[in-house]
Formats: sequence, structure tokens, C-alpha cells
Amino acid sequence: MLQNIRVVLVNTSHPGNIGGAARAMKNMGLSRLVLVDPEDFPSGEAVARASGATDILDNAQVVGTLEEALVGCSVALGTSARDRRIPWPLLDPRECAATCLDQVGAGAEVALVFGREYAGLTNEELQRCQFHVHIPSDPEFGSLNLAAAVQVLVYEVRMAWLAAQGQPTKMEKLETTAILNSQPVTVEELELFYGHLEKTLVDIGFLDPEKPRHLMSRLRRLYGRCGISKLEMNILRGILTETQKVARGEPHKRRED
Ligand code: SAH
Repeated sequence: MLQNIRVVLVNTSHPGNIGGAARAMKNMGLSRLVLVDPEDFPSGEAVARASGATDILDNAQVVGTLEEALVGCSVALGTSARDRRIPWPLLDPRECAATCLDQVGAGAEVALVFGREYAGLTNEELQRCQFHVHIPSDPEFGSLNLAAAVQVLVYEVRMAWLAAQGQPTKMEKLETTAILNSQPVTVEELELFYGHLEKTLVDIGFLDPEKPRHLMSRLRRLYGRCGISKLEMNILRGILTETQKVARGEPHKRRED
């Protein structure tokens, strides 16, 4: 799916930016780079800045015009650092990613088009794009480095793609212990805990069984809000057991850690 989203860099002057864009693309799972009339490519600096994403550079397609770069695309989204005062459908990077995903989901190919470091895209080039995308930067200093702009857009594409796949967008703790630790307690375990807590509170003289008032319901409400895990429950039960020992004047263990 992501292979149907191509990144098009128009007339790039710094090969380092081509490398930086390739790295950003590979980080986010995109692979198709098209270079329109680059000033200096192939180049050692591009390879250095790609930092391992050399396959993207090796497979980059070099063409002479934007028209050639867009062959086979249903939608082109042109990025611009400036408000050009021409009325055109304008998207932010998140909306741009949603549009890309809609298109590739329907089997189409799309292009994200980036301009020259010093002059951006010309009006003619922008008018070849059905949508314009602006990264909402500070208007006082609105122009991002080319590779940084690529990074922002491909990051949003990845977020939208992960969400569409139902895949997590956060790192999941997959270690078995972490899974065990985060397992929620069952209602039976919670009831055992409340029983233990009540008994302990009586043992230490905090709860008068003759006049319990609403203490236990309030504590149930408090613990009920927490979403206690099995590991946390073990800690709480351990604290109660040790508290009871102290209340009975028995020797108790001191935690070493
Ligand atoms: N002086 C140029 C800046 C070009 S920056 C101009 O005013 O247009 C190089 C490229 O990075 C731009 O053509 C665009 O593709 C991208 N870019 C930089 N800042 C951007 C922003 N805020 N929103 C969208 N694209 C941006």
C-alpha cells in the first residue's frame, strides 16, 4: 500500500537533502523516490545523509519534468511553505495523509511533491497538483528544511497507515513479564483484596466494625478507579500482610530493594 505513495523532489540543489528524504522515507516505510532534474545526483553526500537508506537512492527514478514524475498517479499533493494567494484545496499534513490513504486504499497511486530549497515549487508546478499541503509552521519562520518537510508528511502517512491497519502507534511492551504485570485483576481477586483490607483496617484500629460508616464503600470506589493489575494487587496484598504482622507484634520482613 505505502509503495503506491511516491515522494517527488523537484530540482533539488543539495544532495544531502535527497539523502535525508530517503532516510525519512525508509524510516516510515515508503520506498518510491522520484527526482525531477536534481542538480547533483548520484552523490556521496546523498549516500552519507541517507544513513543506510541507500536502496531508496539506488532505486530512485530520475526524470526531466514533473509531468514525467507524475505518470500513473491519480492524485498529486504539492507542498508549499508560502500562502500563494491562489484559491486551491489546502490540506494540513494530517489531512494530506488521510487523502493519500483513501487513494491508495482504492488502488490508486499518489505523489507527494516537494519544491526547490530556495524557491519552492513554481505556480505552474503547484497547479499540476490537485491539493496543496502546508505544514502549519510559525508564519514568521515558516520554511522547513526540505528533508524535514518530507519527514513531517511521511510520518503522518505512517500514522494514518498504522491506524488503518489497526496496528499500535505506541511501542508495546511485549515481554511476557510485562504482559503478566499489566494483566488486570479479576473481580474475585478484588473481593479478596477488599476482605483483606477491611480485616487489616480493623487489626490496626482504623476501622471500628461496630461503626464502619462508609469507609469500605469509599475505599472500593477509590480502588475501583485505578484499574489495578495483578502485579499491583500482589504489592497491595503484601503491604496488608506485613501491616497485620506489625499490628500483631510479629517479626516482619524489611524490604531490601
Ligand atoms: N523559499 C521556498 C522554501 C522552500 S523550502 C518557498 O518559499 O517556497 C523547500 C521545500 O520544502 C518546499 O518547496 C516544500 O516542498 C517544503 N516545505 C518547507 N516548508 C514547508 C511548509 N511549511 N509546508 C509545506 N512544505 C514545506
